[in-house]
Amino acid sequence: MPNNKNRIHQVIVLFFFAILLSVIGLCFRNFESMSIFWPGNAVLLGLLIRFPALDNRVSLLVLFFGMLITDLCWGTPAMISVGVNFSNITFIAAARWVLLTRHFTRPYPRRLQSLMRIFPASIAGALVCAAIGGIVSERYFHDELFKAWFSWFSEQMSTSILLLPAVISLPRRDELRLILRKTFESSLLPLVALLVTTAMSIWVGGGGSLLFPLPALLWCAISYPLFITCCLTLITGISEIILVAGNVLNIQGENDLFRIDSLSAARLGVAAMTISPLIVSLSIEANKRLVARVTRRADYDLLTGALTRSGLSSRLQSLIAPRNRLAGFSGALFLVDIDRFKNINDTWGHAAGDYVLAQTVHCIQQALPPTSLVCRMGGEEFLVLLEGANEARAFLLANRLRNSIENNAIMHKGNDLSVTASIGISLLNISSVQALDEAINRADEQLYIAKSSGRNQVRPEFVL
Ligand code: GH3
Ligand code: MG
Ligand code: MG
Repeated sequence: MPNNKNRIHQVIVLFFFAILLSVIGLCFRNFESMSIFWPGNAVLLGLLIRFPALDNRVSLLVLFFGMLITDLCWGTPAMISVGVNFSNITFIAAARWVLLTRHFTRPYPRRLQSLMRIFPASIAGALVCAAIGGIVSERYFHDELFKAWFSWFSEQMSTSILLLPAVISLPRRDELRLILRKTFESSLLPLVALLVTTAMSIWVGGGGSLLFPLPALLWCAISYPLFITCCLTLITGISEIILVAGNVLNIQGENDLFRIDSLSAARLGVAAMTISPLIVSLSIEANKRLVARVTRRADYDLLTGALTRSGLSSRLQSLIAPRNRLAGFSGALFLVDIDRFKNINDTWGHAAGDYVLAQTVHCIQQALPPTSLVCRMGGEEFLVLLEGANEARAFLLANRLRNSIENNAIMHKGNDLSVTASIGISLLNISSVQALDEAINRADEQLYIAKSSGRNQVRPEFVL
């Protein structure tokens, strides 16, 4: 039932979005001609991509009727309304197919793939839509077929390239907070450069002036998060088109030799310009993800999920670095070694041994405070760092940990593989990561004593 309710809500929201966006487009429509700015198709398509729950055939029908009813209420003759809105829907359907189809490249996550395909999808959508729209314009507005087709094509393509990136990259609420924080931490200079170059293009004029903001947009792309870059290219692109349409930015000059009108030329120029920062921004985003993945692989042990030695070093570095060097890092260090682990491998096989290692790390993480750092030193030996723990607390926590490992039932293929562990404790107060080794050696000496005294016990370097 709640599912049905959600569906009805979605249909209603989409319907009203179709009406709202149609009204905006209709406000830009000249008498006896087509709209100079029709944002509906690109925004509605973007919503279907951004919110997969909306992406179904019913949505296309809802959008069609939403746009059609608005057009009819606006006073557009019935045949024109049907023709024009059918061409709008073909734009959405064709571009959606190119954005999401898995035919051309290997599949990426839905949003990333769509962002990478915006250029071909916009061309495909605009080609199909202009083919139908051009015929409608010729038939009912008596426009020259090629001119009408080109006007539809350039409008649909440029609007789509401008709007789609921003809608598809629309962040979730938690993502938005991070994006805003990163943006406020970035330099303002790229934004200032964008404003200055846009102002210069108005002042200088001429065809090339459309491209003046391009370097600044590329600078924004490498400085700001993807969504902010998409918003900036959208604002710049729309401003340029409006400036050309309003003759504030004169790109044609006095001579009239061009085969296409200046507004269509401007649209195509702006579309070509605004796709470039998107490509840069996407490649930076992909690089960042790759670096994050590689870092994760280097910092965490694949089998157990514990930190690696290098992971521990960088975590410790980040804990020490921002503080007063005198304060450094102080607390307790445990060296935990599973007792007679070799027997498990020998008796039950290596895979069973791996399973025991993973389960034991899970047990260690559960038994200790969440702020403690757990690192796999190698084999079946683990290092634990507990910040702020004094002698008494360190001894208490180590005993609790030993007890938890002993009582942790590890069952594998019906066999009981439960283990015990020995723990050596040292205390540390260090101001550099390198100083950790000395504390490890002291804990290792205690671990050796624990092993030689019968195992399954805790040995601190201090006397309580
Ligand atoms: P002790 O109580 O003295 O610590 O004895 P032990 O058997 O636990 O220690 P020993 O150092 O003799 O053996 C450790 C074994 O751990 C030997 C090695 O084959 C095994 N080992 C190391 N790394 C892995 C691993 O990633 N997976 C598995 N399954 N075994 C591992
Ligand atoms: Mg061992
Ligand atoms: Mg060992």
